[in-house]
Amino acid sequence: MNNGFDPFDHASLIVAHDEGNAFDAVVPPIVQTSLFTFKDYDDMVATYKGERVRPIYTRGLNPTVRMFEEMLAKLEGAEDAIGFASGMAAISSTVMSFVEPGDRIVAVNHVYPDAFRLFGTHLKRMKVEVTYVDGRDEEAVARALPGAKLFYMESPTSWVMDTHDVAALAKLAKQQGILTAIDNSWASPIFQQPISLGVDLVIHSASKYLGGHSDVVAGVVAGSKDLIGRIRSEAYPYLGGKLSPFDAWLLIRGLRTLPIRMKAHERSALTVAQRLQAHPLVETVCHPGLGNTLPPGLSGTSGLFSFIFRDGVDVRRFADHLDLFKLGVSWGGHESLIVPGEVVLSQKAQPNSAAAFGISPRSVRLHVGLEGTEALWSDLEAAMSAASSG
Ligand SMILES: *Cc1c(COP(=O)(O)O)cnc(C)c1O
Repeated sequence: MNNGFDPFDHASLIVAHDEGNAFDAVVPPIVQTSLFTFKDYDDMVATYKGERVRPIYTRGLNPTVRMFEEMLAKLEGAEDAIGFASGMAAISSTVMSFVEPGDRIVAVNHVYPDAFRLFGTHLKRMKVEVTYVDGRDEEAVARALPGAKLFYMESPTSWVMDTHDVAALAKLAKQQGILTAIDNSWASPIFQQPISLGVDLVIHSASKYLGGHSDVVAGVVAGSKDLIGRIRSEAYPYLGGKLSPFDAWLLIRGLRTLPIRMKAHERSALTVAQRLQAHPLVETVCHPGLGNTLPPGLSGTSGLFSFIFRDGVDVRRFADHLDLFKLGVSWGGHESLIVPGEVVLSQKAQPNSAAAFGISPRSVRLHVGLEGTEALWSDLEAAMSAASSG
């Protein structure tokens, strides 16, 4: 699988020695510049004509950004990758590179809410129709696919964490000649490598695990040279959602510890999920690692999951009694975080749909960070006992 690349072989993540470029610095430099100058007229003409590839302007090509793209492509087992200013820029630029008015996209249920909103607003205005299907139901997917241009996947899905047999779904789409894309932010390339499962394009919100330190908003798409080339030449320069050199540098730093961070998130979150499942106040835990075996395609689980309290638990008291777990969106960094479902459902953004997102008002989404399992569990236990004794 994946050209023999082992994501737990940390040496693979060390940036190659680059003599003469950065004073032999062990950390690659941030090429923090908007433009690059030319030696003379002929040099400029040759570059404009495409006779040589070199940076002209950072919206097009920047060495620090390129270094991140190459590292990520390698991690995903892809030929190429392209960095964006946010995960949403990666999603919108990818989708808009491949659809035209009159096209139809099939998407799985419970995709990331802002992707759902992009599909229901801008794409709708562009006369691109998006139909949703339960990705767990392969027959339903097979029925929905014919005639579609793009199959948009996410597994596990946002909030409810439905998992799909990604290889089987990608095969169904391939049989119909339909392009496939997947949001792989949750698993990261450490625990799921969709290219090896037959998916064409792999999208990340790099703001989450790839960055890993809650200090960058960024996105990236990996895939074949052809498909990434199309995004690079069509949507990327004109929609302009470019990853910045400094953010790329933070991502390069983040990637170096990605394997060990993911292992630590996995261990802590699984322990917390198992204990929640056994807790009398908890009705259901939505975590893909609680079965006897992992869902197909996943080789591990990350730190994000949700659970649903039994009736009568005071979610507000629970939230306000937490000390280590902070109330906050996003995830993937050191910090443990919660988002109560009823808060998301009260959000002003449109369209806002409990049914589309699968969010129960008694649910809580947890990101289990790196603070230490026992301290985090004590925090949750104390808050739960406060929430039930009200
Ligand atoms: C956060 C997130 C996104 C959007 O990424 P941004 O970097 O915030 O634009 C997309 N998909 C998933 C699953 C996410 O969690």
